[in-house]
Amino acid sequence: MPGKTAQPDPGRSITSPETELEMVYQSRIRQIAVLLLALSCAAPDVFAANFSRVVIDAGHGGHDRGAGFSHTYEKHLALDVARRLDVYLRSQGINTTLTRKRDAFVPLSRRVEISHAAGEAIFISIHFNYARRRSASGIETFYNARNINSQKLAHMVQSAALYKTRARNRGVKHARFHVLAKNRQPAILLECAFLTNSSDRHRALDPSYRQKMAEAVAMAIIKFRSSG
Ligand SMILES: [Zn+2]
Repeated sequence: MPGKTAQPDPGRSITSPETELEMVYQSRIRQIAVLLLALSCAAPDVFAANFSRVVIDAGHGGHDRGAGFSHTYEKHLALDVARRLDVYLRSQGINTTLTRKRDAFVPLSRRVEISHAAGEAIFISIHFNYARRRSASGIETFYNARNINSQKLAHMVQSAALYKTRARNRGVKHARFHVLAKNRQPAILLECAFLTNSSDRHRALDPSYRQKMAEAVAMAIIKFRSSG
């Protein structure tokens, strides 16, 4: 190695103990460097901007109605936002996969399988909220802590949704919901509004609000793709 001060003894044909020790030491440094390089290549950030598909997951479906109030059911509203998001993303040239296209029950484990089968993908789960306290309102986004890019994506989606709708900000949170906790992809779950809050419910029933939510999510996805 250039710059080293220790000189080998020219009278000796075998390696001195000091040189042997140095060789072991340098070999160790090389091993650590290779390990660090491998770890940096495996870091999720490298993957962030390279997703080629968006898996859109409309929450609930079939006999699983999700949150409900009077005759308003989460499963219908979530599917509507999912379809709008699908149309918008495809119009922007982004490939999509829906975990359900109609009012059908899809087990949570199947939704994760669909996400993993999509390869380099991000996973967006659409929901509407419920609370015993009727005053609870606003938008919140949950993320999968297994993948560091999930949090980044969640913040982008939450910001875009608030910007578009001017709804109350309930924040970005980590959660261990099945479709997030079992998912290896960047994965988020968006709660668009509270069906138990009268003001939120009226907004949720307005197609223009659902369109705004879909466009906000799409805008955030496009920004996420270019941020990597
Ligand atoms: Zn739900």
